[in-house]
Amino acid sequence: MYEVADVDVDICGSTSCRLCTQFCPESNTILFDTGRNSAYIAVDRCKGCEICVGVCDNLAKHHAIKMVTITHLENPFEIRNHGFTDSIIHLIPVANGS
Ligand code: SF4
Ligand code: SF4
Repeated sequence: MYEVADVDVDICGSTSCRLCTQFCPESNTILFDTGRNSAYIAVDRCKGCEICVGVCDNLAKHHAIKMVTITHLENPFEIRNHGFTDSIIHLIPVANGS
């Protein structure tokens, strides 16, 4: 079962420390949404290493990140805030093989 990090927006939004964004070893995976004032995960890039959970629990002391089974996410392959969603996926060119 594949697990990815998931941010509790209510907890994170009340602190917005941004600490986790400096520790994820994968580039552009923990991002910060200034609109919601919360970190969020680009789940298609998350490798499930749990470093961010340790950072939020033990350094930031906010306990806002949990690991969740990817199938439990509402839309696991949405890159939130950047629009790569079902609504635009048909715009991606497909090679015709000729
Ligand atoms: S470390 Fe925790 S509280 Fe701080 S930005 Fe990341 S998820 Fe939010
Ligand atoms: S589990 Fe690892 S790869 Fe995924 S967001 Fe957290 S630190 Fe980054």
